[in-house]
Amino acid sequence: MSESGVSPVYKRVLLKLSGNSFCRAGESGITMAEVSSVSSQIKRIHDSGVQLAIVCGGGNILRGRDFAAVSASIKAPTAHYMGMLATVINGLALQDALENAGVPTRLQTAIRMEGVAEPFIRRRCVRHLEKGRVVILAAGTGGPFVTTDTAAALRAREIEADVVLKATRVDGVYSDDPEKNPHAERYATISFQDVLRHDLKVMDAQAIHHCMEQNIPIVVFNYQKPGNLERVITGEPIGTRVGGA
Ligand code: UDP
Repeated sequence: MSESGVSPVYKRVLLKLSGNSFCRAGESGITMAEVSSVSSQIKRIHDSGVQLAIVCGGGNILRGRDFAAVSASIKAPTAHYMGMLATVINGLALQDALENAGVPTRLQTAIRMEGVAEPFIRRRCVRHLEKGRVVILAAGTGGPFVTTDTAAALRAREIEADVVLKATRVDGVYSDDPEKNPHAERYATISFQDVLRHDLKVMDAQAIHHCMEQNIPIVVFNYQKPGNLERVITGEPIGTRVGGA
């Protein structure tokens, strides 16, 4: 048992925080109250001794595909680069919120911007984790046409994370949209193959493939329920666990 009273079952965790965890439901932009609330949950699991890397999304500011679709003069790759830069804006907000909560951090970006953050260097990232720093990973993969889900799975493979935690506003993965179909059922566990076969919206297919190839489980859970992040890292069976059986 750690000082925080939380006993993690994982040594190294990759947490994927979508852009929508940086703002209020239905809104866009950044609301620091939301970022601070996530940060205080992150502090509790950091205090448990778990090594934590966080991949930030950017959808609260801009998603490349959506922006290109409504902007005739913008080329798709440009829109995707804008989306990657959006994740850096979120990363900076998260870094200050975490440090304000007393959590040591490093921000690393997949697109070099020396004045703002370190470049992502795998071995340096792992060293920070070993020293107890939370590493925030921004700018996705550094390349267009993919999402930060793919970046999360890729980085999880690279840093040899034990699990990918996908923080969402729903309780897990359902057989259908639970808001539209009252009979939709939540899966407690599901295989990677079934996620792909049924095209379930867990993470995009490239992300699933990365995790499947390395057998890194993905836990999809509702981060907005107080204590859920701690429950997940102590191995409580909440949300949906994909693969890793
Ligand atoms: N993006 C990209 N390459 C990457 C990761 C992200 O081009 O490796 C762009 C993409 O346009 C994406 C945007 O950055 O829409 C923001 O990321 P994402 O949509 O994954 O954010 P989230 O949905 O998690 O908030």
